[in-house]
Amino acid sequence: MALIVQKYGGTSVGSIEQIRKVAERVLESYREGNRMVVVLSAMAGQTDNLIRLAYQMTDEPDARELDVLMATGEQITVALFAMAVKSLGYDALSLLAFQAAIQTDRLYGKAHIQAIDTRRVREELEKNRILAVAGFQGLDGAGNITTLGRGGSDTTAVALAAALEADVCEIFTDVDGVYTTDPGICPKARKMEAVSYEEMLEMASLGAKVLEIRAVEFAKKFNVPIHVRSTFSKERGTMVVAETKDMEKVLVSGVAYNKNEARVTIKKVPDQPGVAASIFQPVFESGIIVDMIVQNTSEDGITDLTFTVPKPDFLKTMKLVSRVAEEIRAEKVLGDEDIAKVSVIGVGMRTHAGVAMKMFETLANENINVMMISTSEIKVSCVIEEKYTELAVRVLHKAFGLENDDTDEG
Ligand code: ASP
Ligand code: MG
Repeated sequence: MALIVQKYGGTSVGSIEQIRKVAERVLESYREGNRMVVVLSAMAGQTDNLIRLAYQMTDEPDARELDVLMATGEQITVALFAMAVKSLGYDALSLLAFQAAIQTDRLYGKAHIQAIDTRRVREELEKNRILAVAGFQGLDGAGNITTLGRGGSDTTAVALAAALEADVCEIFTDVDGVYTTDPGICPKARKMEAVSYEEMLEMASLGAKVLEIRAVEFAKKFNVPIHVRSTFSKERGTMVVAETKDMEKVLVSGVAYNKNEARVTIKKVPDQPGVAASIFQPVFESGIIVDMIVQNTSEDGITDLTFTVPKPDFLKTMKLVSRVAEEIRAEKVLGDEDIAKVSVIGVGMRTHAGVAMKMFETLANENINVMMISTSEIKVSCVIEEKYTELAVRVLHKAFGLENDDTDEG
């Protein structure tokens, strides 16, 4: 008998009919003799609706009360799910975060799970009940309701799986796994059988939005195997697991892209100690996350500095940096929103050379200019003109041998 934690996202529990289907699916695993803990998101669109209500009330909803409000979405689905299971003749029980003893810090809207006291959950499982635990919500040390940040039900599921030492954490969603790249761009993208936590972290932060980043970090820390799969099919999805020797044999396992960054260049910066600090200080202090930074070698004590920030922070960054540029007597500040970052990712890079070279050549063959480059142990990223994103993704996906042969017409 295995202990399985399953999580169903909002699009899987978007209607009464769907919730009933989920109940039937959970019962299949239950009847195979498994203990079942089911974490549910709010019905699709529900959390957005709740947030809208709050902003109809006031421009600045109180953080604590916003969490009280948002947490209601998951209360609805766990109750309906438990009813569905019972109506099918089996025993189920819904548990909210306070009942499942999911303790967090007090960072409303983005709280971190600190501990889960699993006594109640274990007791109820002993009674052969199917448990429905509300995702996304927690309780701080003083008994206040908190939420974990958008997409946080994934984290609830992985944290529960870790605390219960479950055999697997199955994340059911509306896609059937993690793909080698965005199938919307590249029809020959392949579903991966397995991907390492680290690769998944790189892909998630680069835009392959299947799993919430924090859930993957949690899974990595506690070595929880995750199975990402579709609610609407029986097929196996993708296992997100610790790195294996086999994974290292593959040079590149995925191609990701991100169109959500903008580039800021400061021309003719005096190259002196403290200049970088004075440029970035106001940016960091505003909580803006700088991704890539490139500084040219200086000529005659003058250099150019380029970096990228999330697009929503672009205008603010331009303002902050322009002010500093004047102070330090830089020539001017240029901005460019029409950029994209494409990245190739793979743990195999650790043991193979030449990935970056092949990436540059592939892009050059298509006349795509590389504006910035950054590398990590398992990733090479290039900033290019945004309009070439799709082309770049397709040619890189092909060049690194990731195409699906089954659909190969040629
Ligand atoms: N309902 C929450 C959200 O929409 C949490 C989740 O779905 O994971 O972000
Ligand atoms: Mg989600």
